[in-house]
Amino acid sequence: MILYELRCPSDHRFEGWFRNSEAFETQQLAHEIACPVCGDNQVDRALMAPAVGRKGNSLPEPAQAITLLRTLRKLVEDSHENVGDRFAEEARKIHYGETEHRGIYGQATDDEAEELADEGIEVGRLPWVPLADS
Ligand SMILES: [Zn+2]
Repeated sequence: MILYELRCPSDHRFEGWFRNSEAFETQQLAHEIACPVCGDNQVDRALMAPAVGRKGNSLPEPAQAITLLRTLRKLVEDSHENVGDRFAEEARKIHYGETEHRGIYGQATDDEAEELADEGIEVGRLPWVPLADS
């Protein structure tokens, strides 16, 4: 079923459900669709208003996503200390106040990340994209 916004020659607008576009055209040619306001059966499809919010809701293009991730990576690198594969250990120390509170980044295995989560230590994960296409 498709919903069409329809318009009569007097510019009354109304909506109608049709099985498909062919069904609409058949009924339109047979003058079986009448305006509910004036009864005119010379109806036509009205121009649909652009769907609101579609752009904002759509996922970014892959290229844009990678640019975004690169920007994010740079932000993290600029403001966080790289602790490499000691990430889980350092995150735990920071959480328990055994070391200076600071932003860190590094690698953790899935198991380590799970353990941290179990201990209530919040870590963010992001796909680590290469900085260049090469
Ligand atoms: Zn009408």
